[in-house]
Amino acid sequence: MVINMAPGFTEEQLQHVIDRVKECGFQPHVTRGTERAIVAAVGSGGARTALEALGAAPGVDSVVPIAHPFKLVSRQTRGERTRVNVGGVIIGGEEAVVMAGPCSVESREQLFSTAIAVKAAGASILRGGAYKPRTSPYDFQGLGTEALKLLRQVREEIGMPVVTEVMSTNDIGLISDYADMLQVGARNMQNYDLLRQLSKCNKPILLKRGPSATVKEWLLAAEYLLAGGNENVVLCERGIKSFENEMTRNTLDLAAVALARQLTHLPVVADPSHGTGRRDLIAPASRAALAIGADGLIIEVHPCPERALSDGAQSLNLDEFATLMKGLHAPIRALVSSPATTVSPR
Ligand code: PEP
Ligand code: MN
Repeated sequence: MVINMAPGFTEEQLQHVIDRVKECGFQPHVTRGTERAIVAAVGSGGARTALEALGAAPGVDSVVPIAHPFKLVSRQTRGERTRVNVGGVIIGGEEAVVMAGPCSVESREQLFSTAIAVKAAGASILRGGAYKPRTSPYDFQGLGTEALKLLRQVREEIGMPVVTEVMSTNDIGLISDYADMLQVGARNMQNYDLLRQLSKCNKPILLKRGPSATVKEWLLAAEYLLAGGNENVVLCERGIKSFENEMTRNTLDLAAVALARQLTHLPVVADPSHGTGRRDLIAPASRAALAIGADGLIIEVHPCPERALSDGAQSLNLDEFATLMKGLHAPIRALVSSPATTVSPR
């Protein structure tokens, strides 16, 4: 249930609602706008009818059921869109944000030259995998801690926040010491233990959609993060499995980008690299993603894609990335736009 406080409500009235929500057996999550406040009452097994009766309490405008199983990520529980602050870069604001860098961190030289080039071309967050979820155990698994150290060095020298993947609950503390944002990879979208522990960490999360996940499952995965207390979540559409498995690596589901922005208040970005698996499709897919309303992109870039230790076929070289960025200026932020709430990392 969502309890909408009326304009001009008092703190006492709000506190009364919060207390009643708890007494009814639900957890209250309060969002404050400039004039209004919304109390989302979530949980199961509480006294629903008693909650509904709060419609008659002083200072309450309305009590509305939340239409979807994902509650805290639902657009209904926030009047405004969420902005996520990643080391000073805002995702979900007016400007689309581009994250770029190699699939895997391979060496200082590779990371450094990529970072300089992508920053000069207009990217504002550096990506780079230290721990890689590879389909085959014989493929390059990432440089681990060594890569984290390189990410931190380059971050400090170049002045760019860093996003990198966390695969195991054991690594959350370590990776949080090095990165500005933690990526939950597609394969781990439904690793609920990982999500639960990440909900308690103080870093923003980039939550990729699982290759076989429905939009509802993806948003419920985000719900784990918010329910545990981490509101700094960016959703990432990275392509799903479809019957097409020959010409493209995955099927970039752009409708899901628009849908997730309609259903939730969270920023949504697209990954045209994994979403297509083909470097020749990255530019058109990027333009399409922004046109449909994506809050940003995450793109794989390598100084020499043919020598990349992972995902070379879908990596742009430095010049190709610069050309792509030139074609992306004045992103078309179609139809979906509303004022945003700032949520900074705790
Ligand atoms: C990656 O970002 O390199 C990656 C492995 O992504 P995904 O989890 O979307 O496959
Ligand atoms: Mn990759």
